[in-house]
Amino acid sequence: MKKKTSVTRKILIAMCIGLIIGSLINSFAANNHFVQVYFVNGLFHVIGTAFVNSLKMLVVPLVTFSLICGVCGIGDVAVLGRVGIKAFALYILTTGIAITLALIVAILVAPGEGFEQAAGSSSFTAKPAPPLTEVFINIIPSNPINAFAEGNMLQIIFFVILFSIAMLMTGEIGRQLAETAEKLNEVMMKVVTLVMDFAPIGVFFLMAKTFSLQGIGLILPMIGYFSVVIFCLLLHGIGTFSLLITFLARLNPLVFLKKMRPAHIFAFSTASSNATIPVTLQVVEKRLGVDNSTAAFTIPLGATINMDGTAIMQGVATVFIANVYGIDLDISDYITIVGMSILASIGTAGVPGVGLIMLAMVFNQVGLPVEGIGLILGVDRLLDMVRTAVNVTGDATVTCIVARSEQAINEQIFLDPEAGVITDVELPHKT
Ligand code: ASP
Repeated sequence: MKKKTSVTRKILIAMCIGLIIGSLINSFAANNHFVQVYFVNGLFHVIGTAFVNSLKMLVVPLVTFSLICGVCGIGDVAVLGRVGIKAFALYILTTGIAITLALIVAILVAPGEGFEQAAGSSSFTAKPAPPLTEVFINIIPSNPINAFAEGNMLQIIFFVILFSIAMLMTGEIGRQLAETAEKLNEVMMKVVTLVMDFAPIGVFFLMAKTFSLQGIGLILPMIGYFSVVIFCLLLHGIGTFSLLITFLARLNPLVFLKKMRPAHIFAFSTASSNATIPVTLQVVEKRLGVDNSTAAFTIPLGATINMDGTAIMQGVATVFIANVYGIDLDISDYITIVGMSILASIGTAGVPGVGLIMLAMVFNQVGLPVEGIGLILGVDRLLDMVRTAVNVTGDATVTCIVARSEQAINEQIFLDPEAGVITDVELPHKT
């Protein structure tokens, strides 16, 4: 029998090669017109973006079918409510821990003190952030088709849950529909696997493009801020989540982190928790053994409302900018920052760079100059990649905890190193 190679390994190798080639271009061919036009903004951009689009293409149908199966699998509205409340509370708790941790470390290290601000270098105009009252009203789609067309995750979740509850209430008709949704879900999972076959190529070009544009030179003047954010991201991503997985989910955190690797790679390469949903779902269900009835609900919800990594960046950025501008923040400001970061992460979707919009909300609230964000723009893309990986790890952590409390996790699958390994798909050939 032909041995199948793990796609994850191929993607990891492609990611490293893309990173090296991109960095080399950044160092040696940054002004080479031919390389920039035909490679960086040509080939790399086209194939990289095409790949991200193909991931995004999967999100809406996958979440829809998967969520219908999930709700019908739970089969009981009271249980559904319980799962929802647990997930929501845990998402808020983990974001709260993340931002508090970031504030404490940033206050202790005090990045930005004595920072020489280059005159005129900080220009940032904040896009308007959605007012929070609107966020809550907007969870209910006035037109579900519009919600699906725009990929508005909270609205889609709301409508699909309502629809699935109605399916449960309609007896035989609903049961037949649920069977169809299960079949469609199965097919969609196959589409995910097909797209994964192209992932090594897509990830290579994405990394090559990003690192061609982001050189080490951007990081150096910001090394203080950059290192504090990375330190806090690692502390939370490895430390906090391992503790939660050990004590609340009663699972082995090493196995958890190892199995999360494909989701980390995709989150890192795409800088979007939303685009990573298909991979996170597959990892959580097939590799970690969480039942679809929990994961189908908590993963898309988490991708939208849970952003621990982003909250960490906000905590450090606030202290950094306050230091740079010599503004003193008091305890009530810090409490406001914690509250605002939690609310902002609920109200914004997991797409690249959204953290900066959320940061503008926080700055406005505590009276920091929004144009200060211009200072951290240069390094934000790299941090975005790492914090997105932390964001999806948070989604998976909460999912495992909720699943454990609902007895909806299969420990045999969790412990089996081979379970759910994505391998190349063999397409059926005509004979
Ligand atoms: N890119 C992040 C995500 O998709 C959000 C952000 O921090 O900008 O989770």
